[in-house]
Amino acid sequence: MIGCKTGKVVGYDVMAKSCRVCKSAELRGREKKEHDCRKNWEGSSKSMEPSMAVKILKSIENKGHKVKTLVMDDDTSTIHKVRLEVNADMQKCSDKNHTFKNFANNLYALQKEKYKRILSVKTISHIKKCFAYAVSSNREEPISLKENLLAIPNHLYGKHSSCQVKWCRYLQNKETYTPKHLPYGKYLTDTNLFEDLQQLFTSYANQSERLSLLESTQHNENFNHVVSRKNPKNNFYSGSESTSVRVAAAVCEKNIGAPYVLQFKKRRVELKKKSASAISSSETREGITYESGVLSQSSSIPDERMETIPSPPEQLHQVPLPPGEYSRVYFDLETTGLVCATISCHTGDSLKDNRTYL
Ligand SMILES: [Zn+2]
Ligand SMILES: [Zn+2]
Repeated sequence: MIGCKTGKVVGYDVMAKSCRVCKSAELRGREKKEHDCRKNWEGSSKSMEPSMAVKILKSIENKGHKVKTLVMDDDTSTIHKVRLEVNADMQKCSDKNHTFKNFANNLYALQKEKYKRILSVKTISHIKKCFAYAVSSNREEPISLKENLLAIPNHLYGKHSSCQVKWCRYLQNKETYTPKHLPYGKYLTDTNLFEDLQQLFTSYANQSERLSLLESTQHNENFNHVVSRKNPKNNFYSGSESTSVRVAAAVCEKNIGAPYVLQFKKRRVELKKKSASAISSSETREGITYESGVLSQSSSIPDERMETIPSPPEQLHQVPLPPGEYSRVYFDLETTGLVCATISCHTGDSLKDNRTYL
């Protein structure tokens, strides 16, 4: 559970349906050995969410804080259980992304039912965009949102009398406007579809109070991403305490930021510095080859004053040593840019060969 204003985790819980140690003891009919058992859920996975919400909210209340509104998807079982067991007056606020998705699902249902040809994916995505824009740009303005939503079907059919200049591109520029996001850059024409769209938009316009107060669960999506990175689903960690530890680490990263993120950034700055110094050392040798105004700059310096550092000596040739007079030395050379490596080969104490490679 994440705070809307801070974007930090205010409560979390891990529920596990199985435990590897318990399971293996059961299978073999043996006594369970002592272990850090994390199995804490017997019901179905679906009923986990409502129970978890209640558990977290209660723990927040026990710390002396109060939650007034929950931003969530339109899952009724969770809010029902919360109102029943925690706070009867708990407000529910819909999440933007889920609302947009549900809206698009209505369009896909229409497409499947009646308009396989007319209502293409491109058209649906454009209508969804119009809807999302109307909702996002009319926050806390339900009346304006209502007008905006009711105008969209007409707008899509080329009738702009009820559009508003702030969002209708046609009203902004009547001469050059074409509905380029619609198929073939043409307005929609099917009258049956118009009626269905009008019905759909009217039903949403009637909920404009609720729609004008949508919140985003972006932080939760982001947190889920952090958890899935630490606790990948293709590896099964939930049979032991591993998952709990991984989720706890994700909460730390979300709330205080991982120190290794800082270290990584520090290292990146160091590497950047290194590469800048490598560039400047080769530029010293080669002279400036490209820079704005390089011609006027070099013409102002007399030729005899321009110093050139000689290029590095030619590659040295390897001369094989007489067999049996040396020990093998294995090495791994990692070179980037200008690196000097010295290799020495010994037989006993005497130095036989000492070469420098550049
Ligand atoms: Zn167990
Ligand atoms: Zn318009």
